[in-house]
Amino acid sequence: MKPNRVSRRQFLQSAAAVSVAFVTPKIAWGQTSADVIVIGAGMSGLNAALLLEEQGLNVRVLEGRNRIGGRVYSLGNVPGNPEAGANAIVGKNALATARRFGAELIDRSQRPGINRERLLVLGGKIISPSEWPDSPQNPFPKDQRETMPWGYVSPLISKNNPLKNLEDWVDPAHASYDISLHTFLEKQGATDRIIQLAVDTNCIYDRSAHDASTLMPFQSDLRRKFRQRAGRINFVGKGGNQRVPEAMARGLKRQVIMQKTVSGIRSEADGVDVYCSDGAQYRARFVICSVPVPVLRNLRIDPVLTGVQEQAVKSMSYSLCTQIHMTAKRPFWEDDGLPPYMWTDGLVGTVSPSRNGPSPDEVTSLAARGRGLMATYLDRLGPEGAKAAVIKYIEEIRPAAKGQLTALHFHSWQLDPFAGGADFMIWGPGEVTAFHGKLWERHGRISFCGEHTALLNSGQEGALESGARAASEVIEQL
Ligand SMILES: Cc1cc2nc3c(=O)[nH]c(=O)nc-3n(C[C@H](O)[C@H](O)[C@H](O)COP(=O)(O)OP(=O)(O)OC[C@H]3O[C@@H](n4cnc5c(N)ncnc54)[C@H](O)[C@@H]3O)c2cc1C
Repeated sequence: MKPNRVSRRQFLQSAAAVSVAFVTPKIAWGQTSADVIVIGAGMSGLNAALLLEEQGLNVRVLEGRNRIGGRVYSLGNVPGNPEAGANAIVGKNALATARRFGAELIDRSQRPGINRERLLVLGGKIISPSEWPDSPQNPFPKDQRETMPWGYVSPLISKNNPLKNLEDWVDPAHASYDISLHTFLEKQGATDRIIQLAVDTNCIYDRSAHDASTLMPFQSDLRRKFRQRAGRINFVGKGGNQRVPEAMARGLKRQVIMQKTVSGIRSEADGVDVYCSDGAQYRARFVICSVPVPVLRNLRIDPVLTGVQEQAVKSMSYSLCTQIHMTAKRPFWEDDGLPPYMWTDGLVGTVSPSRNGPSPDEVTSLAARGRGLMATYLDRLGPEGAKAAVIKYIEEIRPAAKGQLTALHFHSWQLDPFAGGADFMIWGPGEVTAFHGKLWERHGRISFCGEHTALLNSGQEGALESGARAASEVIEQL
C-alpha cells in the first residue's frame, strides 16, 4: 500500500506542538550524519547497533534517558542495587551477550539462600497453608482446595497448551485460542471468583484476564518448557543487571548520545531525519526505532503509519507495575517467624526480598510490586503517598515490622515517559490474529525493534532477537 504522506507543512504544524525541532528545515546530508541511527539504548537497540557496527557501518545510538539499559534498571540508591526492571537473565543469547561484553555474572542457582515460601494475605489477614483449604476465601473446587492462588493457572495452561514450536502462537491454525484468558479459563470450569483471585489479583496482563489473549500464556509456557529441557539458566549481573547493557554500550565504537529524546522521524527517498526535543537533529540512511509502543504512539512519524500498523500502535496495552523498594532495620521476618515473601490482594501486591549481599541469606532490600489495578492505585497516591501506604499496610499485617521499614525508591513503569508500561506488551484477545507481523513491518527507511516485536522470545532474549532482525533488515537494503 502507498504510504499516506502528510504535506511537509501539515507535518511541521502538527509536530510543532511536540517539539520546536520540527520548525527547522530539512537537515542537509552530511550534517550530524550516520549510516544508521538507532533510537534507544535498551537491549534491543544496543544489539542492533553492535551488529551493524560489525558490518562496518557508522552507527549512532540516541538515548533519551541519562542512563543506559531502558527496562534493565538496577537501583543505585538502594543497598544491593536491586532490580526495578529485568530480574534475571534466563536465556542463552542474553547470557552469551553478557559474557561476550565482559559483564560479570552471578549464577543464582548456586545461591540457595532463605526460605522462598510465600505468605498469603487476603482481606488484610494472613492465611496459613494449613488454614487455606478450609478458608471461606478459598474459591477452588473440592479436589483443588490446597492449590494456592498463584499456583492455579500455570498447570491448567500447561496441560491444555496446543503449541509445539515457538512460532506456532502466530500460526492461523491456533487462531481459535486468540480469545481472552478469562474466556479460556471459564471454558475449563473456572468461576469468576477463581479467575479474579488467580489472575486479576496481582495481574501481569494489564488489568485482568479479559485483557490477554490465551496465546500469550501458552507461548510463555512453551518457552518455559524449552528452557527446562535445555537446562535452566538463572543469572544476574554482578552489581545489578544494568551492568550488562552498560557493557554492551562500552562495546560500541561510538558512544551512545545520552539525553536525546527523539520526538519525530521523517523517512524520505534518500535518507531519514531524526528530530529531538532539545532541537538537535540527525540524518542517516536508515533508522532503527526501539522505543516501546506507548512512546512510539507519541512520536511524529512521516509518512504517518497507516492501516493495521497504525491501529496496532494505537491500541496495544502493556503490563503495569509500580514498585516501592525498602530496607528493614531488623529482619522482622525472623521476629515473627513468617517468610519475608508476601502475596497479597492489598495495595502492596507482592513483597519480595533481594539478597544481593555477600551472603545469600542476607536480605539487602525488600520490594513491594503492585500490578494491574493496584499499580494504578499506587500511582494515584504519588511517590510519597504510596511509600507511606505500603509501609502502613505491612506494619498492620505484621506488627513485627513496626518502625523497621524505610522506603527508598518509588518507580512506576507506566508513568515512566520512556517506557509507558512494564515488562511486556500485551497481545489482547484477537490481536495476535489481527496485528501479528504488521506491528514491526519496515516503514520506508525506518525499522522497528524492541521486545514487543519479537517472534520467538520474550524479555531480554526477545529484545536481542528483535534487534538482530532489525539490523538484518537494514543490511538487506544496503
Ligand atoms: C518489572 C520488570 C521485570 C522484568 N523481568 C525480566 C526478567 O526477569 N527477565 C527478562 O529477560 N526480562 C525481564 N523484563 C523485561 C525486559 O526488561 C525487557 O523486555 C527488555 O529490557 C526490553 O528491551 P527493549 O530494548 O525492547 O526496550 P527498552 O529497554 O524499553 O529500551 C528502549 C530504550 O529506548 C529509550 N527511549 C524511549 N523513548 C525514547 C525517545 N523518545 N528518544 C530516545 N530514546 C528513547 C528508553 O529510554 C530505552 O532505553 C522485565 C521488565 C520489567 C519492567
